[in-house]
Amino acid sequence: MEKIYDVIISGAGPSGSLLGYLLSTKNISTLILEKEQFPRYKVCAGGIQWKTLQMFPYDIKEVIEKEIYGIYFSRKLKDIFYKKYSEPLIYTVNRIELDDFMAKKAISSGCAINFNEEVKNFEINGSKVKIYTKDNTYFSKILIGADGVSSIIFRKLNKSKKMQKIIGYETEIPAADLNFNSFFDNFDKNLMIDLGGVRKGYTWIFPKKNYLSVGDGGPVSDTLEIKKYLLWFLKNYQSALNKQNIFKNGLTSDKNIDNDNQSGISKKLYFMQGFEAKYEIKAHLIPVRTDNTFLCDNRILTVGDAAGLGDGFTGEGLYNAILSSNIAGESIIDALRYSNFEFHDYFEKVNNEIYKNIRNSLIISKIFFSSPLFYYKLIKNSDNLFNSCAKILRGEKTYNDVVNKLKLIKI
Ligand SMILES: Cc1cc2nc3c(=O)[nH]c(=O)nc-3n(C[C@H](O)[C@H](O)[C@H](O)COP(=O)(O)OP(=O)(O)OC[C@H]3O[C@@H](n4cnc5c(N)ncnc54)[C@H](O)[C@@H]3O)c2cc1C
Repeated sequence: MEKIYDVIISGAGPSGSLLGYLLSTKNISTLILEKEQFPRYKVCAGGIQWKTLQMFPYDIKEVIEKEIYGIYFSRKLKDIFYKKYSEPLIYTVNRIELDDFMAKKAISSGCAINFNEEVKNFEINGSKVKIYTKDNTYFSKILIGADGVSSIIFRKLNKSKKMQKIIGYETEIPAADLNFNSFFDNFDKNLMIDLGGVRKGYTWIFPKKNYLSVGDGGPVSDTLEIKKYLLWFLKNYQSALNKQNIFKNGLTSDKNIDNDNQSGISKKLYFMQGFEAKYEIKAHLIPVRTDNTFLCDNRILTVGDAAGLGDGFTGEGLYNAILSSNIAGESIIDALRYSNFEFHDYFEKVNNEIYKNIRNSLIISKIFFSSPLFYYKLIKNSDNLFNSCAKILRGEKTYNDVVNKLKLIKI
Protein backbone atom coordinates (compact mmCIF):
# COMPACT_ATOMS: atom_id res chain seq x y z
CA MET A 1 0.00 0.00 0.00
CA GLU A 2 1.22 3.53 -0.75
CA LYS A 3 2.71 5.50 2.17
CA ILE A 4 0.99 8.80 2.86
CA TYR A 5 3.17 11.34 4.68
CA ASP A 6 1.50 14.01 6.75
CA VAL A 7 3.72 16.61 5.09
CA ILE A 8 6.08 16.66 2.11
CA ILE A 9 8.37 19.67 1.75
CA SER A 10 9.99 20.64 -1.54
CA GLY A 11 13.46 22.06 -0.75
CA ALA A 12 15.94 21.68 2.13
CA GLY A 13 17.15 25.29 2.37
CA PRO A 14 16.83 27.05 5.76
CA SER A 15 13.03 27.36 5.52
CA GLY A 16 12.45 23.72 4.47
CA SER A 17 14.89 22.14 6.94
CA LEU A 18 13.64 24.23 9.85
CA LEU A 19 10.03 23.32 9.09
CA GLY A 20 11.01 19.64 8.73
CA TYR A 21 12.66 19.83 12.15
CA LEU A 22 9.72 21.59 13.83
CA LEU A 23 7.14 19.13 12.46
CA SER A 24 9.17 15.98 13.16
CA THR A 25 9.72 16.97 16.79
CA LYS A 26 5.89 16.94 17.05
CA ASN A 27 5.77 13.42 15.57
CA ILE A 28 4.32 14.59 12.27
CA SER A 29 5.60 12.29 9.51
CA THR A 30 7.58 14.55 7.21
CA LEU A 31 9.64 14.00 4.06
CA ILE A 32 11.81 16.65 2.40
CA LEU A 33 12.58 16.25 -1.30
CA GLU A 34 15.73 18.22 -2.22
CA LYS A 35 16.98 18.49 -5.78
CA GLU A 36 20.67 18.85 -4.85
CA GLN A 37 23.08 16.60 -2.97
CA PHE A 38 24.23 18.34 0.27
CA PRO A 39 26.57 19.94 1.13
CA ARG A 40 25.95 22.37 -1.75
CA TYR A 41 26.88 25.99 -2.55
CA LYS A 42 24.22 28.71 -2.28
CA VAL A 43 24.70 32.27 -3.53
CA CYS A 44 24.21 34.31 -0.34
CA ALA A 45 26.22 36.83 1.69
CA GLY A 46 25.29 34.79 4.76
CA GLY A 47 24.42 37.70 7.04
CA ILE A 48 22.15 36.69 9.92
CA GLN A 49 20.40 39.24 12.06
CA TRP A 50 20.48 39.05 15.85
CA LYS A 51 16.70 38.66 15.94
CA THR A 52 16.91 35.68 13.55
CA LEU A 53 19.23 33.87 15.94
CA GLN A 54 16.63 34.22 18.70
CA MET A 55 14.11 32.31 16.57
CA PHE A 56 16.10 29.12 16.01
CA PRO A 57 14.84 26.22 18.17
CA TYR A 58 18.46 25.01 18.52
CA ASP A 59 21.87 26.59 18.94
CA ILE A 60 23.62 27.46 15.64
CA LYS A 61 26.80 28.84 17.28
CA GLU A 62 28.99 26.15 15.72
CA VAL A 63 28.29 27.45 12.18
CA ILE A 64 28.70 31.15 12.97
CA GLU A 65 31.85 32.47 11.29
CA LYS A 66 32.08 36.11 12.40
CA GLU A 67 30.37 38.55 14.76
CA ILE A 68 30.13 41.95 13.09
CA TYR A 69 30.25 45.20 15.07
CA GLY A 70 31.53 47.77 12.57
CA ILE A 71 30.86 48.96 9.03
CA TYR A 72 33.16 50.65 6.51
CA PHE A 73 30.93 52.87 4.35
CA SER A 74 32.01 54.16 0.95
CA ARG A 75 30.59 55.91 -2.11
CA LYS A 76 32.07 54.26 -5.19
CA LEU A 77 35.09 53.51 -2.99
CA LYS A 78 35.52 57.18 -2.07
CA ASP A 79 34.66 59.26 1.02
CA ILE A 80 35.18 56.18 3.22
CA PHE A 81 34.16 56.29 6.88
CA TYR A 82 33.79 53.78 9.68
CA LYS A 83 31.09 53.32 12.34
CA LYS A 84 30.88 50.81 15.13
CA TYR A 85 28.01 49.61 17.32
CA SER A 86 28.17 48.38 20.92
CA GLU A 87 26.42 45.05 20.17
CA PRO A 88 26.89 42.65 17.24
CA LEU A 89 25.10 44.09 14.19
CA ILE A 90 24.90 40.78 12.38
CA TYR A 91 26.56 37.36 12.37
CA THR A 92 27.95 35.70 9.26
CA VAL A 93 27.63 32.08 8.18
CA ASN A 94 28.85 30.03 5.26
CA ARG A 95 25.66 28.83 3.57
CA ILE A 96 27.21 25.51 2.59
CA GLU A 97 27.65 24.80 6.29
CA LEU A 98 24.48 26.41 7.65
CA ASP A 99 22.23 24.54 5.21
CA ASP A 100 24.01 21.24 5.81
CA PHE A 101 23.82 21.76 9.58
CA MET A 102 20.08 22.54 9.43
CA ALA A 103 19.37 19.53 7.19
CA LYS A 104 21.18 17.29 9.69
CA LYS A 105 19.15 18.79 12.55
CA ALA A 106 15.96 17.93 10.63
CA ILE A 107 17.17 14.36 10.05
CA SER A 108 18.15 13.96 13.71
CA SER A 109 14.62 14.95 14.74
CA GLY A 110 13.15 12.14 12.59
CA CYS A 111 12.50 13.99 9.33
CA ALA A 112 13.38 12.03 6.17
CA ILE A 113 15.30 13.87 3.44
CA ASN A 114 15.73 12.46 -0.06
CA PHE A 115 18.57 14.38 -1.73
CA ASN A 116 18.94 14.46 -5.52
CA GLU A 117 15.16 14.32 -5.88
CA GLU A 118 13.70 17.30 -7.68
CA VAL A 119 9.96 17.88 -7.42
CA LYS A 120 8.76 18.02 -11.03
CA ASN A 121 5.01 18.27 -10.61
CA PHE A 122 2.12 17.71 -8.23
CA GLU A 123 -1.66 17.45 -8.16
CA ILE A 124 -4.33 17.36 -5.48
CA ASN A 125 -6.29 14.09 -5.50
CA GLY A 126 -9.16 14.35 -3.00
CA SER A 127 -7.64 14.10 0.47
CA LYS A 128 -4.04 13.75 -0.67
CA VAL A 129 -1.43 15.50 -2.75
CA LYS A 130 0.39 13.43 -5.38
CA ILE A 131 3.97 14.56 -5.91
CA TYR A 132 6.12 13.55 -8.85
CA THR A 133 9.90 13.43 -9.08
CA LYS A 134 11.83 11.99 -12.04
CA ASP A 135 11.67 8.39 -10.80
CA ASN A 136 9.12 8.35 -8.00
CA THR A 137 5.63 9.36 -6.95
CA TYR A 138 4.94 10.37 -3.34
CA PHE A 139 1.76 11.09 -1.40
CA SER A 140 1.06 13.47 1.48
CA LYS A 141 -1.79 15.28 3.18
CA ILE A 142 0.01 18.63 2.80
CA LEU A 143 2.64 19.91 0.34
CA ILE A 144 5.01 22.74 1.28
CA GLY A 145 6.91 24.88 -1.20
CA ALA A 146 10.25 25.71 0.46
CA ASP A 147 12.06 25.51 -2.86
CA GLY A 148 13.32 29.06 -3.20
CA VAL A 149 12.82 31.77 -5.78
CA SER A 150 12.25 29.35 -8.69
CA SER A 151 9.80 27.21 -6.68
CA ILE A 152 7.85 24.75 -8.80
CA ILE A 153 4.91 25.05 -6.38
CA PHE A 154 4.92 28.84 -6.65
CA ARG A 155 5.23 28.78 -10.44
CA LYS A 156 2.30 26.42 -10.85
CA LEU A 157 -0.04 28.24 -8.47
CA ASN A 158 0.98 31.90 -8.80
CA LYS A 159 0.11 31.94 -12.50
CA SER A 160 0.07 35.53 -13.77
CA LYS A 161 0.18 37.22 -10.37
CA LYS A 162 3.03 39.67 -9.87
CA MET A 163 6.24 39.33 -7.90
CA GLN A 164 9.15 41.79 -7.82
CA LYS A 165 12.69 40.49 -8.12
CA ILE A 166 16.10 41.81 -7.09
CA ILE A 167 19.25 40.37 -8.65
CA GLY A 168 22.30 39.64 -6.53
CA TYR A 169 25.85 38.80 -7.69
CA GLU A 170 28.50 37.30 -5.49
CA THR A 171 31.97 35.80 -5.39
CA GLU A 172 34.21 34.56 -2.59
CA ILE A 173 37.84 35.75 -2.20
CA PRO A 174 40.06 33.47 -0.08
CA ALA A 175 42.00 35.42 2.58
CA ALA A 176 45.24 33.97 1.23
CA ASP A 177 44.60 35.60 -2.16
CA LEU A 178 44.29 39.16 -0.83
CA ASN A 179 47.05 41.47 -1.91
CA PHE A 180 48.29 42.59 1.48
CA ASN A 181 48.68 40.25 4.43
CA SER A 182 46.99 42.54 6.89
CA PHE A 183 44.02 43.35 4.65
CA PHE A 184 41.84 40.46 5.83
CA ASP A 185 42.44 41.28 9.54
CA ASN A 186 40.63 44.58 9.13
CA PHE A 187 37.45 42.63 8.37
CA ASP A 188 37.64 40.52 11.49
CA LYS A 189 34.59 42.15 13.10
CA ASN A 190 33.68 44.52 10.28
CA LEU A 191 31.85 44.51 6.99
CA MET A 192 31.70 47.01 4.18
CA ILE A 193 28.80 48.70 2.38
CA ASP A 194 29.45 50.69 -0.80
CA LEU A 195 26.72 52.95 -2.16
CA GLY A 196 26.27 54.84 -5.41
CA GLY A 197 27.77 52.21 -7.72
CA VAL A 198 24.47 50.40 -8.13
CA ARG A 199 21.18 52.21 -8.66
CA LYS A 200 18.67 51.36 -5.88
CA GLY A 201 21.07 48.83 -4.44
CA TYR A 202 24.47 48.40 -2.85
CA THR A 203 27.75 46.50 -2.88
CA TRP A 204 29.00 44.55 0.14
CA ILE A 205 31.97 42.78 1.66
CA PHE A 206 30.92 40.21 4.29
CA PRO A 207 33.81 38.42 6.01
CA LYS A 208 33.81 34.69 6.80
CA LYS A 209 36.46 32.69 8.69
CA ASN A 210 38.79 32.26 5.71
CA TYR A 211 37.40 34.42 2.93
CA LEU A 212 35.47 37.54 1.99
CA SER A 213 32.07 37.33 0.29
CA VAL A 214 31.95 40.24 -2.13
CA GLY A 215 28.78 41.03 -4.03
CA ASP A 216 26.20 43.55 -5.13
CA GLY A 217 22.50 43.66 -5.85
CA GLY A 218 19.77 45.85 -7.27
CA PRO A 219 16.78 45.88 -9.63
CA VAL A 220 16.68 43.07 -12.23
CA SER A 221 16.29 45.70 -14.96
CA ASP A 222 19.90 46.83 -14.19
CA THR A 223 21.44 43.34 -14.38
CA LEU A 224 24.31 44.23 -16.74
CA GLU A 225 25.28 47.42 -14.90
CA ILE A 226 25.22 45.61 -11.57
CA LYS A 227 27.65 42.93 -12.75
CA LYS A 228 29.86 45.54 -14.43
CA TYR A 229 30.07 47.54 -11.22
CA LEU A 230 30.98 44.45 -9.19
CA LEU A 231 33.88 43.76 -11.58
CA TRP A 232 35.08 47.35 -11.22
CA PHE A 233 34.72 47.15 -7.44
CA LEU A 234 36.68 43.88 -7.26
CA LYS A 235 39.47 45.42 -9.24
CA ASN A 236 39.74 48.49 -7.02
CA TYR A 237 38.54 47.85 -3.47
CA GLN A 238 41.83 46.67 -2.01
CA SER A 239 43.89 49.63 -3.10
CA ALA A 240 41.08 52.07 -2.18
CA LEU A 241 40.77 50.66 1.32
CA ASN A 242 44.47 50.30 1.88
CA LYS A 243 44.87 54.04 1.34
CA GLN A 244 42.62 54.72 4.33
CA ASN A 245 43.91 55.70 7.73
CA ILE A 246 40.92 53.89 9.26
CA PHE A 247 42.54 50.57 8.38
CA LYS A 248 44.36 49.19 11.41
CA ASN A 249 47.32 47.84 9.49
CA GLY A 250 46.61 49.66 6.26
CA LEU A 251 49.15 51.34 4.08
CA THR A 252 48.66 55.03 4.58
CA SER A 253 49.74 56.63 1.35
CA ASP A 254 49.82 56.12 -2.38
CA LYS A 255 53.60 56.05 -2.11
CA ASN A 256 53.48 52.83 -0.12
CA ILE A 257 51.16 51.23 -2.63
CA ASP A 258 53.43 52.30 -5.47
CA ASN A 259 56.37 50.75 -3.66
CA ASP A 260 54.51 47.49 -3.37
CA ASN A 261 53.59 47.64 -7.01
CA GLN A 262 57.25 47.96 -7.82
CA SER A 263 58.03 44.94 -5.73
CA GLY A 264 55.69 42.88 -7.86
CA ILE A 265 52.53 42.89 -5.73
CA SER A 266 50.71 44.73 -8.52
CA LYS A 267 50.80 41.53 -10.52
CA LYS A 268 48.34 40.14 -8.02
CA LEU A 269 45.82 42.95 -8.63
CA TYR A 270 42.72 41.58 -10.27
CA PHE A 271 42.18 42.34 -13.89
CA MET A 272 38.69 41.72 -15.05
CA GLN A 273 39.21 38.81 -17.39
CA GLY A 274 41.75 37.10 -15.19
CA PHE A 275 39.52 37.64 -12.21
CA GLU A 276 36.48 36.14 -13.85
CA ALA A 277 38.48 33.13 -14.92
CA LYS A 278 39.77 32.54 -11.39
CA TYR A 279 36.75 33.40 -9.25
CA GLU A 280 33.31 32.53 -10.46
CA ILE A 281 30.79 35.31 -10.03
CA LYS A 282 27.38 33.78 -9.44
CA ALA A 283 23.97 35.41 -9.71
CA HIS A 284 20.72 34.59 -7.97
CA LEU A 285 17.33 36.28 -7.66
CA ILE A 286 15.71 37.60 -4.49
CA PRO A 287 11.89 37.64 -4.61
CA VAL A 288 9.80 40.41 -3.03
CA ARG A 289 6.07 39.68 -2.86
CA THR A 290 3.29 42.07 -3.83
CA ASP A 291 -0.35 42.12 -2.69
CA ASN A 292 -1.54 39.19 -4.81
CA THR A 293 1.51 36.93 -4.80
CA PHE A 294 0.52 33.30 -4.07
CA LEU A 295 0.98 32.20 -0.45
CA CYS A 296 -1.27 29.21 0.33
CA ASP A 297 -4.25 27.26 -0.87
CA ASN A 298 -6.07 24.03 -0.06
CA ARG A 299 -3.36 21.58 1.23
CA ILE A 300 -0.55 23.72 -0.22
CA LEU A 301 1.55 26.37 1.50
CA THR A 302 4.75 28.25 0.65
CA VAL A 303 7.49 29.55 2.98
CA GLY A 304 10.69 31.63 2.66
CA ASP A 305 11.78 32.68 -0.82
CA ALA A 306 9.12 30.46 -2.41
CA ALA A 307 6.58 32.79 -0.79
CA GLY A 308 8.43 35.90 -2.02
CA LEU A 309 9.50 36.98 1.46
CA GLY A 310 12.69 38.87 0.52
CA ASP A 311 13.30 42.28 2.13
CA GLY A 312 12.71 45.07 -0.42
CA PHE A 313 15.47 47.32 0.98
CA THR A 314 18.37 45.06 2.02
CA GLY A 315 17.52 41.91 0.01
CA GLU A 316 17.84 39.76 3.15
CA GLY A 317 15.57 36.73 3.27
CA LEU A 318 16.77 34.50 6.09
CA TYR A 319 14.78 36.19 8.86
CA ASN A 320 11.51 35.92 6.98
CA ALA A 321 12.36 32.35 5.89
CA ILE A 322 12.82 31.30 9.51
CA LEU A 323 9.81 33.30 10.76
CA SER A 324 7.49 31.94 8.05
CA SER A 325 8.52 28.36 8.83
CA ASN A 326 7.82 28.92 12.52
CA ILE A 327 4.36 30.27 11.68
CA ALA A 328 3.76 27.46 9.16
CA GLY A 329 4.72 24.83 11.76
CA GLU A 330 1.94 25.95 14.12
CA SER A 331 -0.56 26.27 11.31
CA ILE A 332 0.19 22.77 9.95
CA ILE A 333 -0.17 21.18 13.40
CA ASP A 334 -3.65 22.76 13.70
CA ALA A 335 -4.57 21.79 10.13
CA LEU A 336 -3.79 18.13 10.82
CA ARG A 337 -5.52 18.20 14.22
CA TYR A 338 -8.77 19.71 12.88
CA SER A 339 -8.58 18.31 9.30
CA ASN A 340 -8.92 21.83 7.93
CA PHE A 341 -6.37 22.48 5.22
CA GLU A 342 -7.23 26.02 4.09
CA PHE A 343 -4.45 27.73 6.12
CA HIS A 344 -6.41 30.94 6.71
CA ASP A 345 -4.45 31.49 9.95
CA TYR A 346 -1.13 31.23 8.09
CA PHE A 347 -2.34 33.74 5.51
CA GLU A 348 -3.40 36.20 8.20
CA LYS A 349 -0.22 35.88 10.25
CA VAL A 350 2.17 36.16 7.29
CA ASN A 351 0.33 39.23 6.11
CA ASN A 352 0.41 40.88 9.54
CA GLU A 353 3.81 39.78 10.82
CA ILE A 354 5.85 39.68 7.60
CA TYR A 355 4.21 41.25 4.56
CA LYS A 356 3.39 44.56 6.29
CA ASN A 357 7.09 44.90 7.06
CA ILE A 358 8.06 44.00 3.47
CA ARG A 359 5.72 46.72 2.18
CA ASN A 360 7.38 49.18 4.54
CA SER A 361 10.85 48.00 3.42
CA LEU A 362 9.84 49.16 -0.08
CA ILE A 363 8.77 52.56 1.29
CA ILE A 364 12.12 52.95 3.11
CA SER A 365 13.94 51.85 -0.05
CA LYS A 366 12.10 54.51 -2.06
CA ILE A 367 12.89 57.24 0.47
CA PHE A 368 16.56 56.24 0.84
CA PHE A 369 17.31 55.80 -2.87
CA SER A 370 15.59 59.09 -3.78
CA SER A 371 18.66 60.87 -2.25
CA PRO A 372 21.33 58.28 -1.33
CA LEU A 373 24.05 60.96 -1.08
CA PHE A 374 21.99 62.97 1.40
CA TYR A 375 21.41 59.90 3.64
CA TYR A 376 25.05 58.84 3.24
CA LYS A 377 26.20 62.17 4.65
CA LEU A 378 23.54 62.04 7.35
CA ILE A 379 24.77 58.62 8.56
CA LYS A 380 28.38 59.81 8.37
CA ASN A 381 27.68 62.85 10.54
CA SER A 382 25.13 61.48 12.97
CA ASP A 383 25.92 58.71 15.43
CA ASN A 384 22.27 58.79 16.48
CA LEU A 385 21.11 57.95 12.96
CA PHE A 386 23.75 55.22 12.64
CA ASN A 387 22.60 53.74 15.96
CA SER A 388 18.99 53.71 14.73
CA CYS A 389 20.09 51.94 11.52
CA ALA A 390 22.06 49.50 13.67
CA LYS A 391 18.90 48.66 15.60
CA ILE A 392 17.12 47.90 12.31
CA LEU A 393 20.03 45.76 11.10
CA ARG A 394 20.01 43.81 14.35
CA GLY A 395 16.25 43.51 14.19
CA GLU A 396 15.54 45.36 17.43
CA LYS A 397 13.53 47.85 15.37
CA THR A 398 11.41 47.07 12.31
CA TYR A 399 10.56 49.02 9.18
CA ASN A 400 7.03 49.23 10.61
CA ASP A 401 8.41 51.19 13.60
CA VAL A 402 10.30 53.57 11.28
CA VAL A 403 7.38 54.16 8.92
CA ASN A 404 4.98 54.71 11.84
CA LYS A 405 7.41 57.32 13.24
CA LEU A 406 7.69 59.03 9.84
CA LYS A 407 3.88 59.17 9.68
CA LEU A 408 3.83 60.82 13.11
CA ILE A 409 6.23 63.55 11.97
CA LYS A 410 4.34 63.68 8.63
CA ILE A 411 7.26 63.11 6.23
C1 LIG B 1 23.50 37.45 -3.62
C2 LIG B 1 22.58 37.17 -2.47
C3 LIG B 1 22.97 37.52 -1.18
C4 LIG B 1 22.11 37.28 -0.10
N1 LIG B 1 22.53 37.60 1.16
C5 LIG B 1 21.70 37.43 2.21
C6 LIG B 1 22.12 37.78 3.53
O1 LIG B 1 23.24 38.19 3.77
N2 LIG B 1 21.22 37.61 4.55
C7 LIG B 1 19.96 37.13 4.34
O2 LIG B 1 19.18 37.04 5.29
N3 LIG B 1 19.56 36.75 3.10
C8 LIG B 1 20.39 36.88 2.04
N4 LIG B 1 19.99 36.49 0.79
C9 LIG B 1 18.67 35.85 0.63
C10 LIG B 1 18.71 34.40 1.13
O3 LIG B 1 19.74 33.71 0.48
C11 LIG B 1 17.38 33.70 0.88
O4 LIG B 1 16.33 34.52 1.32
C12 LIG B 1 17.29 32.37 1.62
O5 LIG B 1 18.22 31.45 1.09
C13 LIG B 1 15.87 31.77 1.50
O6 LIG B 1 15.86 30.48 2.08
P1 LIG B 1 14.84 29.37 1.55
O7 LIG B 1 15.06 28.16 2.38
O8 LIG B 1 13.47 29.93 1.47
O9 LIG B 1 15.28 29.09 0.03
P2 LIG B 1 16.67 28.56 -0.53
O10 LIG B 1 17.77 28.85 0.39
O11 LIG B 1 16.74 29.08 -1.93
O12 LIG B 1 16.51 26.97 -0.57
C14 LIG B 1 15.68 26.35 -1.53
C15 LIG B 1 16.09 24.88 -1.65
O13 LIG B 1 15.14 24.23 -2.50
C16 LIG B 1 15.82 23.40 -3.43
N5 LIG B 1 14.95 23.24 -4.60
C17 LIG B 1 14.67 24.16 -5.55
N6 LIG B 1 13.78 23.67 -6.44
C18 LIG B 1 13.49 22.42 -6.03
C19 LIG B 1 12.62 21.40 -6.54
N7 LIG B 1 11.86 21.59 -7.64
N8 LIG B 1 12.57 20.21 -5.88
C20 LIG B 1 13.32 20.00 -4.76
N9 LIG B 1 14.16 20.93 -4.24
C21 LIG B 1 14.23 22.14 -4.86
C22 LIG B 1 17.13 24.13 -3.69
O14 LIG B 1 18.13 23.25 -4.17
C23 LIG B 1 17.44 24.70 -2.30
O15 LIG B 1 18.22 23.81 -1.54
C24 LIG B 1 20.83 36.68 -0.31
C25 LIG B 1 20.45 36.32 -1.61
C26 LIG B 1 21.31 36.56 -2.68
C27 LIG B 1 20.87 36.16 -4.05
